[in-house]
Amino acid sequence: MDNATRRNFLKDLGLGAAALSVAGEGGRAGEIGQSVQAGQAGQMPGRPATGESAGEAARPVNIMAIAAHPGDAFFAMGAAVAVQTHLGGRGAFLSLSLGEKGSATIPPARYGQMQREASERAAQTLGARALFLDYPDGEIPVNDEAKFAVCDAIREHKPGVIVTHWRGSWHKDHQACYAIANDAIFYAGLPAIARNAPAHNVGQRFFADNWEDATGFVADTYLDVGGVFDRWIEACAAFPMWRGENGFRYDDYYISLGVARGCLSGFERAIALMSAPDQLTRRLHSL
Ligand SMILES: [Zn+2]
Repeated sequence: MDNATRRNFLKDLGLGAAALSVAGEGGRAGEIGQSVQAGQAGQMPGRPATGESAGEAARPVNIMAIAAHPGDAFFAMGAAVAVQTHLGGRGAFLSLSLGEKGSATIPPARYGQMQREASERAAQTLGARALFLDYPDGEIPVNDEAKFAVCDAIREHKPGVIVTHWRGSWHKDHQACYAIANDAIFYAGLPAIARNAPAHNVGQRFFADNWEDATGFVADTYLDVGGVFDRWIEACAAFPMWRGENGFRYDDYYISLGVARGCLSGFERAIALMSAPDQLTRRLHSL
């Protein structure tokens, strides 16, 4: 199966449609949700159009968030997972670390346990699973052990879509997660790499809109999250750090970002995603 067939990007510019289709479980096409390409909605007078709303009914696809820390998984990636579980897809949050060193006042062992419990509560709220690899916070290694551990999680959960960190981050754990996820997706899809579970091709990979990963982040996809916004906030509220206890007002930032991204995309509430570069290739029929 060649790359174009496997990834099955049904982007027909002639029709102006931009359905983000992926090879889901069993090869069935799925979509991350009702989304639009950047700049498509709410075209202003005099401003050139760059596309249009997908306009098709969203279909569920299994989704996995792969994050360095639980906060990243739920705050920056959780709404995308919530959309898919709401539609009937399976969702999983994989945190490479517990983020146990994130508190200035609570010892790491205690804080790590709090983070784990908060993740499990938040995942339950969203109808998803919380998974952990327990690498030390701040010291996530970029090595084959970590890559194969993530590969195994991908093969077990069979996501059609993965949301993870963009590499343009000041945080070394986030940079590490980007590199680990990238190679893990590659390993997961290779049948010649024998693991306990059979190979699984991930249909699409997106990078999350994370305040710590902003260098070079360019939003190219907007996802309507209006129907799950309140539940996603409820899930995030399981984490004490959501309300700013650790110095950053995550709640104010991500809630207002959902409003701002909604304004840009013509949805009530939205999140922005950045496509992996290989997903931006377009094929134009000329005959
Ligand atoms: Zn983080």
